[in-house]
Amino acid sequence: MTQHTPQHSGAFTCTLNPARIVFGAGKRGDVAAELDRLSVTRALVLSTPFQKADADALAETLGDKAAGVFANATMHTPVEITETAMSAYVAAGADGVIALGGGSTIGLGKAIAYRNDCPQLVVATTYAGSEVTPILGQTENGVKTTVRAASILPETVIYDPELTLGLPVGMSVTSGLNAMAHAVEGVYAQDRNPIASMMAVEGVRALRDALPVIVKTPADAVARGDALYGAWLCGTVLGSVGMALHHKLCHVLGGSFDLPHAETHSVMLPHTTAYNAGAAKEALQPLADLFGGDLGVGLWQFAKELGAPMSLRDLGLEETDLDRAADIAVKNPYWNPRPVERDAIRALLGRAWEGAPPESGT
Ligand code: NAD
Repeated sequence: MTQHTPQHSGAFTCTLNPARIVFGAGKRGDVAAELDRLSVTRALVLSTPFQKADADALAETLGDKAAGVFANATMHTPVEITETAMSAYVAAGADGVIALGGGSTIGLGKAIAYRNDCPQLVVATTYAGSEVTPILGQTENGVKTTVRAASILPETVIYDPELTLGLPVGMSVTSGLNAMAHAVEGVYAQDRNPIASMMAVEGVRALRDALPVIVKTPADAVARGDALYGAWLCGTVLGSVGMALHHKLCHVLGGSFDLPHAETHSVMLPHTTAYNAGAAKEALQPLADLFGGDLGVGLWQFAKELGAPMSLRDLGLEETDLDRAADIAVKNPYWNPRPVERDAIRALLGRAWEGAPPESGT
């Protein structure tokens, strides 16, 4: 039996985001009723080109409640795409948006709501967690900026595991590890609180149990439900408390070197966890217990067994970029439980680039 470790003996502040969550197989059938609750009469349905057929099918079932489909959502929420979508929104006489998809599509819905404060309903189909955060990252002239505002938080989220049965295995794994990263950083956040920490541990547990099943049997309905449940919890942590070194490094690698979002999170997570393991030992203990005691090494082994990408080299980063990445990462660092030191960060990036195991920590 694990010894009880008090996590929150001191004071804390806890702000929970006021979103409505509708969870369950077949719940996409509740979209029309949920639009009514939001007093939305004509919703513009958003998707990526890849999920256009699903967006068209959803619009079809909504009849007059759908104002049309805008299927050009793309990574990093470029402002030009948002402006085109805003014109489509006005031309269609829409009074709300439905984002059907992952973080890219949800980002577009948030960008529209940030500009016109329209209600957002999200039908979430990945594990990235953007649907439960009041955070928007957008790009203009190649520069990514992040804003936080109440209007950005979607009002209603529908999680229907049936819509994730076809999420490719590779993306399920990296997206699941991306979700776990929110939880790992959530438990040692400077503004951590007992509710967020409970959600973090339960979210990681659900994903730890579900992902190996999904790799073997991608259409396993129970595992898909558990993974989406875990993703909701981990995303809620991301929306509730501040993130640290791991998210900073991933933003640097994505923003300055154009590495793919979920894959970068999954390569980096064991290394950033190991970096912080000693400094955040108590906070990380419940998660370490889920992975055999050493969280960084345990996550690395877990990712390897799931067939996740294991190195920044495989994601296309040049070895000559590592020094610049370390330099950028230590400029304006986020708060972190262990001081962010340039040489140690460069060493961490070197191991992640090679695909070597992380240093053994907690
Ligand atoms: P994504 O939304 O870019 O999706 C990747 C691809 O998978 C797309 O083509 C998409 O259409 C497809 N896809 C999605 N769900 C599918 C399904 N169930 N079946 C088949 N295909 C499916 O990927 P993502 O990882 O969800 O989102 C990444 C983006 O979200 C990044 O830009 C990231 O910065 C952002 N993000 C933002 C926040 C936030 O809080 N603001 C949080 C997490 C991620």
